[in-house]
Amino acid sequence: MTKRLARVAQTFRWEMGHRIPYHQSGCQNFHGHSYKMIVEVEGEIQDNGMVIDFFDLRDLIQPIVDEMDHAFMCSQDDELARDFLKQSGLKVCFVDFHSTVENIAHYFAQRIRPVLETFPNLHVLRILLYETPEEFAEVSLALRPESGNPDYSG
Ligand SMILES: [Zn+2]
Repeated sequence: MTKRLARVAQTFRWEMGHRIPYHQSGCQNFHGHSYKMIVEVEGEIQDNGMVIDFFDLRDLIQPIVDEMDHAFMCSQDDELARDFLKQSGLKVCFVDFHSTVENIAHYFAQRIRPVLETFPNLHVLRILLYETPEEFAEVSLALRPESGNPDYSG
């Protein structure tokens, strides 16, 4: 039987505070965003008619979103925010990168990639992360070394 490819996507939303300490135009201040993330998975449709069960995808990603929701994402390099937040008792998501939308998208991709790689039918993971309705970053990862250009004709 011909392999049939499809791309499925699921959307996640959360609120999170952050700052970019080295930024000079406002982002160095404490502020927050309503993040929207679209996770797309591309692969072969299995016998059950699905690329991946949406419940499985949500079970994988929602716990990471919950770590961030209504938290402040703080780089371990940001001494000013780190020292204040550590003794504050507030919800903090400490990370080893600065919380640009590009870096957060990569962080999600790296955390969910090992699980998605255990599904032999999946080819590509793509994450679109919106920091505002107008601004987003996109990260694409091949889950199979041979999956170059997906073919939708099958
Ligand atoms: Zn910001």
